[in-house]
Parts: sequence; structure tokens; C-alpha cells
Amino acid sequence: MQEGEELKQLRNDIATTEKNLKTMKKMLEEGEKKCPHIWGQVRFTPTTIPGYFSPARGCGSDFQPSMNVPAETIKKWTRVCTICGKEETTTKTKFEGKEMPVFESDKQWGY
Ligand SMILES: [Zn+2]
Repeated sequence: MQEGEELKQLRNDIATTEKNLKTMKKMLEEGEKKCPHIWGQVRFTPTTIPGYFSPARGCGSDFQPSMNVPAETIKKWTRVCTICGKEETTTKTKFEGKEMPVFESDKQWGY
């Protein structure tokens, strides 16, 4: 059963790869923690959810008329570490004279 052997081998390879992947992700995470992170320029990278037509549905008190759901833009900001290449994205902002993005790793330091 040549095919059966191949599948067994494939299964083994997948298990090994999954283990390696776990190890590599951990190494990356630990490396990122050690990196002092010098962030490059913050880029405004909004996501647009396209609008769509929602047909009428339900009946009686559950009736919902058809409607055009407008497109929605989600404000988003991205920055990349110039040392390790870690990318951070945020949708959170604070207001200091103008709207400023707040990134996850900034919050640790109480900014
Ligand atoms: Zn970094």
C-alpha cells in the first residue's frame, strides 16, 4: 500500500511542521518582546466595508423593509518597527487637540 505509506508520512510531516511553527512563533514573540521597537511613520490605513442592498424580510412585527446599507469606513492606523518589522494596527484613538491613534504597545507605558 504505497499510498497509505505516503499518507502516513504526510501526517507525520504535518505534525512536525505544526510543532516547528509553534516554536518559531514563540521565538518571534520573545524576540519582539526584547526589541526596543523604533516605530516608523504612522500610516492611515482605513478599511472600507462596501455597502449592500438588504432585501425585505420577516413578517408582522418582525417585518424589516428593504434598504440600502451604505458603505462604512473604519478608521485604522498602522506602523512598522524599523528594527524587527513588527506591524501594529489600531482603531483606537485619543483626542489631544486632534485625533491621535493609540497603539497596543504604547498603553503598557501609560501614555
Ligand atoms: Zn521592533
